[in-house]
Parts: sequence; C-alpha cells; structure tokens
Amino acid sequence: MTASTCLFCRIARSDIPARIVYRDDEVVAFHDVSPQAPVHILVIPVRHVSGLSALGPDDTGLAGRLLQVANEVARLAGVLTSGFRLVVNDGADGGQSVPHLHLHVLGGRQLSWPPG
Ligand code: AMP
Repeated sequence: MTASTCLFCRIARSDIPARIVYRDDEVVAFHDVSPQAPVHILVIPVRHVSGLSALGPDDTGLAGRLLQVANEVARLAGVLTSGFRLVVNDGADGGQSVPHLHLHVLGGRQLSWPPG
C-alpha cells in the first residue's frame, strides 16, 4: 500500500470525494460512507500511517492532534455533551479494513457494550 493508491490518502488529497467536516495540514475528518450510528465520522492523519500500531515515539504530537480533532468533530456534530465513542480498529483481529490510521467518532444514539 502506497500513498498514491491508499483510499484514505486519496480522500485526504481530494482525489476522490468525501463529505469532509474538518481539514488542517495534519488531520482530515469526513463522514463514514456506511454509518453505524447517526454520527459516524472518521478522523485521519494526512500523512500515510498504516494504523495505530504503526505510530512511533515521534508521533505523540500527531496522536494528540487526532484526539483533539475527534473532540472538535464531536462538537461540530452536536454530540460533545450527549456522549460519543472513539474506536480504532487495528490489524486483522481488530477488524481494520482500511490500512490508513482512522479514528471512528460514533454518537447520536445509545451505544452498546461490549462491541462484537
Ligand atoms: P475499519 O473497518 O476500522 O478499517 O473502518 C473503515 C471504515 O471506512 C468503514 O467504516 C467504512 O465504512 C469506511 N469507508 C470505506 N470507504 C470509505 C469511503 N470512500 N468514504 C468514507 N468512508 C469509507
């Protein structure tokens, strides 16, 4: 997987369309194409990172920015006070299907626990 072929890299570059809700130099957020809750937004780094487990010791700033933007999109979507959930699927057993790090911001309904 290279940045030229990666689906989420292509969304970050606006090569393919997405419903973008937030963008800065480091982070992009857009609506999930197959929402699992009334609010389902993906927060991704612009830089290609294959997953959470690929983050290294030099990436603490980026990790913090991803969390800050997750809060910001939760606020923009109106679920900051009602509550929301962050999910990061990593690797095969984690259920990751797109090999570019993404945080799922889920909200707008009562979410059950534990996940499947
Ligand atoms: P994961 O299974 O954790 O890797 O999550 C990948 C997510 O990306 C899924 O929730 C998909 O619905 C979502 N997804 C796949 N393709 C697109 C796309 N073109 N635009 C927006 N979301 C997408």
